[in-house]
Amino acid sequence: MADRTWRIEVDRRLCAGTGLCLGTASGHMSLDRGRARPVEALVAPDQSVADAAATCPMEAITLRDAATGEILAPVR
Ligand code: SF4
Repeated sequence: MADRTWRIEVDRRLCAGTGLCLGTASGHMSLDRGRARPVEALVAPDQSVADAAATCPMEAITLRDAATGEILAPVR
């Protein structure tokens, strides 16, 4: 798992701008005109990013394996 790269995607149409993910995945998310976006789309595996995708109240964050496109979080 450590050699994998994850891709963070935010659906800005779904994001409600709560800022919750900025606290959960500290340093990985920012707010841009009231909507979240990843600081870097491609990241090394980090549990805090998976937690942010799992706990976004709008399910606006999708976390994928960058190589395969497999959805890693949230689990639906
Ligand atoms: S937790 Fe979800 S709804 Fe809240 S700012 Fe982040 S992406 Fe947007």
